[in-house]
Amino acid sequence: MIERLLSRPVAKRADRVRLTGRVLFLVDDAELIRQQLHGENLPWPPSAPLRDNISTDEITPAYICYYYDDTLGDFPYLGLKAGGEFPITRGSVRAGGFVCSVAGKRRGKGSSREQSPYAEMCAGIQLVIAESIERIYRENCQNLGILTSTDVGLVQKVRRGEEIPLSAFTEGEGDITRGIIEYGGLFQYNVARLQGRVRVPAVATAQRPMTLGEKIIARHWVADPSTERVGAPAVRPGDEGFVRTDIRFSHEYVTPMATIFWEQYVGPDERIVDPGSVFFFRDHLTFLEHAMTEERKQEGLLDVALQLKKKQEEFAVRQGVKLYGELPRLGRMEVRGSEAICHSKILEQHALPGHLIIGSDSHTPHAGAIGCIAFGVGTTAIFNSWLTKDVRLTVPPSVLVRVRGGKPANITAKDFMLQILRHPYVKNGHAIGKIVEYAGDAVEALSVDERATMTNMAAEVGAFTGIVKPDEQVVAFLARERGMHAADVRSMLTGLFSDEGAEYETVLEFDAADLQPMVALPGDPGNGLFITELGGPVKIDIAYAGSCTAGKKSDMDMYARVFRDAAARGARVPADVRCYIQCGSQEVKRYCEEMGYLEIFAKVGAVFIEPSCGACINAGPGVSYDRATVTVSAINRNFPGRSGPGQLYLASPYTTAASAIAGYITAWEPDLVPVPS
Ligand code: SF4
Repeated sequence: MIERLLSRPVAKRADRVRLTGRVLFLVDDAELIRQQLHGENLPWPPSAPLRDNISTDEITPAYICYYYDDTLGDFPYLGLKAGGEFPITRGSVRAGGFVCSVAGKRRGKGSSREQSPYAEMCAGIQLVIAESIERIYRENCQNLGILTSTDVGLVQKVRRGEEIPLSAFTEGEGDITRGIIEYGGLFQYNVARLQGRVRVPAVATAQRPMTLGEKIIARHWVADPSTERVGAPAVRPGDEGFVRTDIRFSHEYVTPMATIFWEQYVGPDERIVDPGSVFFFRDHLTFLEHAMTEERKQEGLLDVALQLKKKQEEFAVRQGVKLYGELPRLGRMEVRGSEAICHSKILEQHALPGHLIIGSDSHTPHAGAIGCIAFGVGTTAIFNSWLTKDVRLTVPPSVLVRVRGGKPANITAKDFMLQILRHPYVKNGHAIGKIVEYAGDAVEALSVDERATMTNMAAEVGAFTGIVKPDEQVVAFLARERGMHAADVRSMLTGLFSDEGAEYETVLEFDAADLQPMVALPGDPGNGLFITELGGPVKIDIAYAGSCTAGKKSDMDMYARVFRDAAARGARVPADVRCYIQCGSQEVKRYCEEMGYLEIFAKVGAVFIEPSCGACINAGPGVSYDRATVTVSAINRNFPGRSGPGQLYLASPYTTAASAIAGYITAWEPDLVPVPS
């Protein structure tokens, strides 16, 4: 394999860039966008504000990601909401001759899907400019060879067709990122590295007090790829290099595109490195058949989506990679599902304290609940990690989020997160790309499952990852869930804490005792409010209680607690509300069976379904079918279109269950579940 790559031609880009084409302003005005698609060039700055918070769900809605080749170029921005409308249609960006796309703050937030920048690239976009750009999205652009900038002053230069020095896009970047930009992508850079054309400078940081995250990164630092030497005495924010992974995983939304890159660039018969530490998951689209509209089925999208499953299965067999797949249909029954959602299974069975884990999904930080550095990467990074087992990394600054005090009984980790997400530091994007370490006695008091809600939602914070110092809760978790010896686990915890004097860029303080049950208003997880601030009852149509964030054992405990109370009072889910409980793995389902939860759920009229991402990715029971539908959901994000076209409120497991019984959004009051009026 290396031999083939050693003779592969690879060259740097020219040191000046001239883009010839139009600039597309992604403004919050549907008519102005339509005018651009019809050939009109807007003045700069445009008369409407640039759209902030454009998520990857808006760039390429989930159903678009059933494609994994250059057909994607027909679809960028199809889910983009402007002035309440969706003005971009199939093929219109590609036909418009655009080379540059301009937006506001936090561009590319949300899912780590590389289909988004790949779709933009295939439509002709070579440069993305925004006031701020989310970490994974930006890395994905760089890995694919798309230029990015937060300098809006470049807009006029592009419009005038002026030459721009390549250094305008590499300034301030470390050696590796600069090399990736100069070589036009990660694979090309890696080939140049293997050919000795570029050298990765050794990390020169002297011993210093480090945060927990920095320590784990230092332990995994690739000191010398030629001798497989791993480990550095210390790292500091800004150090750039490659780290050796313990676990690499991907799901069916990403594996097929990575296999295409593998076959195209490396060769179909080559073997991936250490397949025993690679895992594939069929979790996102298991229930798609039941959620897809007839219209989409008639467009052939179900067949397109099934190709993702087949492609991943074939590659898993050929490469000897463990695939957590789809459950077989049981006889003639329609019942099916997945063995597990990726994050659930990685935490339940594979991650260990101190591990470094990459996954093809923005919620990979889930495993940080037991003290791992786990982070999401895009397709190109996954594909390259199959080749080297390494992934590039710039050590991020750390932020300490301390939650103190005793929480009220109806407050959960989800409420902590909705409160953290509305903090101005987070809401204004200052935590983007950072290591968020959660600490404080209120966090220490949480179970590992609840901590995982917090680390999982580091994705919504925009963080590089989230982590909690592993402690006796983790020892008990691994002993209970995996039968590990407590002494063996304790020995893994050696050194896994932040040093006295470690540097945090910021410390955010919260008092759990001040919290009330929260919801996030539709549109963004940062739209948090106390339920008491809602200003009146919000009637719901759907309550969805599932996903990696809210399909764990402790989540099932919470749903069951509320529903048991309700059943004891003779209350049920009202006839005009649909309530779904979806667990994260077969292990969680077995737990529900053992605990008698399935009977409780059935008693109140909640429908229990097999594991899968399902409604969380707009692909299963629980999705909304029109804009008027109101859903309360325990999932982690509510960007437009995330779970159908309706109005999606985020809430805790307690609130979701209590609202399902009440028929409107309400907090759970222990031993007092509202009966529908
Ligand atoms: S359940 Fe939702 S958030 Fe979790 S991995 Fe699946 S799609 Fe992503």
